Amino acid sequence: MYKHILFATDLTEDTEYLINKVRNIQTYTDAKLSLIHVVEPLPGYSYAYLGIEDIEGQLIEEARQSIEKLSEKFNISKNDLYIEVGPTKTKILKVADDLNADLIICGSHGRHGLSLLLGSTANAILHGAKCDVLTVRLPEET
Ligand code: AMP
Repeated sequence: MYKHILFATDLTEDTEYLINKVRNIQTYTDAKLSLIHVVEPLPGYSYAYLGIEDIEGQLIEEARQSIEKLSEKFNISKNDLYIEVGPTKTKILKVADDLNADLIICGSHGRHGLSLLLGSTANAILHGAKCDVLTVRLPEET
């Protein structure tokens, strides 16, 4: 059915909700699984303003640690983890293309999303992807 699934994770607590679904679909399809997280760079002036020199490096390092921890729950290799820096939707779509992924899984909205609306990332993935997309409806925030 599906051969290569790309799970786009924002690494927030919403990820916990998605884990079981992703795992079940992967088991059912016997597909290869890759994970991607995108770090959106702050505009250059913010670095000076915040007085933090390598905030991007720190964000990447934190993301790397989180995604590696997450990968243990899927029992997948570090080679199948992607941390990209840039515009989230563009990077997810590019990696999906590069990997020849035939299914992208993402949440319906991020933590700040409105429960009845698709978030902007989910929307952009749905509109831009060349493959199937599964947007998992996340429970409403309390
Ligand atoms: P959003 O549309 O931004 O509310 O987020 C919807 C879904 O897109 C999230 O539940 C994640 O699955 C995915 N997503 C959002 N931001 C990122 C990110 N920085 N890296 C990877 N996936 C993301």
